[in-house]
Amino acid sequence: MKWENNRQSDQIEDRRSDPGGGGLGGLGGGRRVGGRGIGLGTIAVALVAGWIFGINPMTILGVLGGVGDMSAPTEQVQTTQTPTQTPTDDMGRFVASVLGGTEDVWVDVFQQAGAQYQKPRLVLFRGATPTACGTGQSAMGPFYCPGDQKVYIDLSFYDTLRRQLGAPGDFAQAYVIAHEVGHHVQNLMGITDQMEQARRRMSEREYNALSVKLELQADCFAGLWAYHNHKSKAILEPGDVEEALNAAAAIGDDALQRKSQGQVVPDSFTHGTSAQRQRWFNTGLTSGKVQSCDTFKASTL
Ligand SMILES: [Zn+2]
Repeated sequence: MKWENNRQSDQIEDRRSDPGGGGLGGLGGGRRVGGRGIGLGTIAVALVAGWIFGINPMTILGVLGGVGDMSAPTEQVQTTQTPTQTPTDDMGRFVASVLGGTEDVWVDVFQQAGAQYQKPRLVLFRGATPTACGTGQSAMGPFYCPGDQKVYIDLSFYDTLRRQLGAPGDFAQAYVIAHEVGHHVQNLMGITDQMEQARRRMSEREYNALSVKLELQADCFAGLWAYHNHKSKAILEPGDVEEALNAAAAIGDDALQRKSQGQVVPDSFTHGTSAQRQRWFNTGLTSGKVQSCDTFKASTL
């Protein structure tokens, strides 16, 4: 991926040098509002943690579910704001460039629809950090918090992606960011709110099916970003699309469940199968159109 062509975003909050991501002591009490975080696939990292620590991944998931499941969206609450800064290290610059590319694409797309794109912030952290969705833990994998409109990523996830999930490559890493930014776009479009409303009148099984559509749309939006960013900045190099498709397959629910449980339970899917995730990324990549990413209306996923 030719990421150097992209302008670096100035919306990076670098909390990597914070001890414990800002001090776990300050994470409690009353701050955790504003909806749940939407991850790339919590199960991915839970699974890996399970391998590393030798415990049942489902046990970890139960714990993580508790962390991530701070729904009850009430009023917006101010959370920690770290001043934005431009990273100078290679990984930091890479992330800032990819984010800058997403900003350019989405500003254009929104403008053409007569709307204004509000840029999300991206928080780099290590270990744990306060968010409007509760304590962000690196074990949750990268996620977007609608409550503070920030993408959170501990860059150690990229090691997990490469080593444990077998999805190496800079474009696979860029796809992860573009997917989370896709959740931000959904938030701006009001889709996230509608999901929260729907959640209250649905069974878990029904909600999971809806969640799959949300995730696949974020994958489609990631593809849409790649289409437009390539068109304007020629970012794609040979093998890049394959890297993203490989990553999309690696974090499909069926692939992850097969690894962690040895079986596949479609009712519990929240992110979609490997094939679905690849298909929707590809739909965005080939069409470049928001309308083609309407997974909620699609007759087949
Ligand atoms: Zn997601």
